[in-house]
Amino acid sequence: MPEGDTVWNTARVLHRALAGARITSSDFRVPQLATTDLSGWTVRESASRGKHLLLRLHAPNDARWTLHSHLRMDGAWRAYAPGERWTGRPAHLIRVVLRSPGAVAVGYHLHEMTLVPTAEEDQLVGHLGPDLLGPDWDAAEAVRRLADHPEQTIGEALLDQRNLAGVGNLYKCEVLFLRGVSPWTPVGAVPDLPGMVALAQRLLAANRGRWTQSSTGSLYRGQTSYVYGRRAQPCRRCGTAIRKEELGERVTYWCPVCQPEHSDTPVSG
Ligand SMILES: [Zn+2]
Repeated sequence: MPEGDTVWNTARVLHRALAGARITSSDFRVPQLATTDLSGWTVRESASRGKHLLLRLHAPNDARWTLHSHLRMDGAWRAYAPGERWTGRPAHLIRVVLRSPGAVAVGYHLHEMTLVPTAEEDQLVGHLGPDLLGPDWDAAEAVRRLADHPEQTIGEALLDQRNLAGVGNLYKCEVLFLRGVSPWTPVGAVPDLPGMVALAQRLLAANRGRWTQSSTGSLYRGQTSYVYGRRAQPCRRCGTAIRKEELGERVTYWCPVCQPEHSDTPVSG
């Protein structure tokens, strides 16, 4: 599940493969960029902002542009050595191929791919709240934005990238479990919002630099989460069957005993 940490990792992979390199050919397989040719352009850097990827480029005429993409639920970028076999995803999912002398970057099932002047990046990511893994992470601002909508359920508020950027459904479910808070609790009734925001940041930061996402500390298959993806399985704390239900546009997983509605006694995590 691409969440902030996955996108951060992906940006790092692209940066290592392409930063400073000259693009020798580009092949866009999305209608809006079908005629775009980046050959001769230079890659300045690759960065992430919440769940958005920003590949910053230098055009031959010195103009600075950003190739933006979003992974959503299923997108991925891979970097290969020239001549290496492209593994992992079927070819029909390829949306872009960027070649440089030292690497080939292939983007699979990317969303919202656009090329904008770097000075206009804010049109794409300016609405985002503080980035949990960004150099300018601001916990107090994230708490302030969350608290601005006290009636919203905390389950939806944590996913709203305008509040804080980088939490996806997995970390949302896990953070709420660890704090002992029901996903349906209104933000205004959450006992310790700063504590919840701090925990979300720690979880994402702990998973930076690896592809297996774990909130339990275990990297063993089937043991990486407390509630996410564990419907009907016993809660790791109390043995109650984990539940799964729709909340807003997404499903949520939770333990009805460890996360009672309007809880004011968080389970320590
Ligand atoms: Zn439980």
